Amino acid sequence: MDNRTFRNAMGKFATGVTVITTEIHGQVHGMTANAFMSVSLDPKLVVISIGEKAQMLDKIKNSKKFAVNILAENQQELSMTFAGQIKEKRERSFENLGGLPVLEGAVAQVACKVVNEHVEGDHTLFIGKVIDIHLEEGEPLLFFNGQYRSLLSKEILSNK
Ligand code: FAD
Ligand code: NAD
Repeated sequence: MDNRTFRNAMGKFATGVTVITTEIHGQVHGMTANAFMSVSLDPKLVVISIGEKAQMLDKIKNSKKFAVNILAENQQELSMTFAGQIKEKRERSFENLGGLPVLEGAVAQVACKVVNEHVEGDHTLFIGKVIDIHLEEGEPLLFFNGQYRSLLSKEILSNK
């Protein structure tokens, strides 16, 4: 099976978009990621998956903490910036949550300390214990079929 077929299949799973942030030696680093999942309620755990070539990998290994910023629908430019898709360097300011840098305007900011890590293939899974959360009103940015989307219909489908 070729890589494109795998990516096309995974792209059928509609996700939100996050920017993972961390700080090491006073330097903030951010990276766009959609491989994010809630893992456990008691204790409160989440998982992120970071590629072996990403600068972010060593930074989280060393800082042992990260924040997940779930982007709002008007934050596509931030997603593209932190995915390296906008080349020009722009200064970004960050707020603070639980000692971690976080992005203003995200619909959720989730601060975590790393409690476990697992190398799986060409990615490392970091299990984060949630230490603080901040929520904002707003609609999320979505990623589907390799493209950014927004919730076109705000209608909530009935569970019945
Ligand atoms: P770099 O490529 O060096 O940095 C990323 C970008 O962020 C650069 O443009 C840099 O200038 C900018 N930046 C970083 N810190 C700052 C700062 N403090 N101030 C201003 N700008 C800053 N990869 C994964 O491993 N896992 C995923 O789950 C994942 N999901 C993705 C989902 C989407 C929708 C997209 C588009 C990409 C995803 N990627 C994922 C790919 C990943 O975002 C890119 O490969 C990214 O470039 C890797 O970042 P890096 O840590 O290597 O850092
Ligand atoms: P795409 O078609 O590459 O992505 C569709 C889906 O494929 C993603 O949502 C993800 O689930 C999966 N995927 C893509 N690259 C992967 C990788 N290297 N490892 C594991 N799963 C991967 O979409 P695109 O717009 O071409 O993506 C832009 C860039 O961001 C590409 O370079 C892509 O590799 C990268 N990306 C990486 C990950 C990841 O590492 N987990 C996730 C999404 C996008």
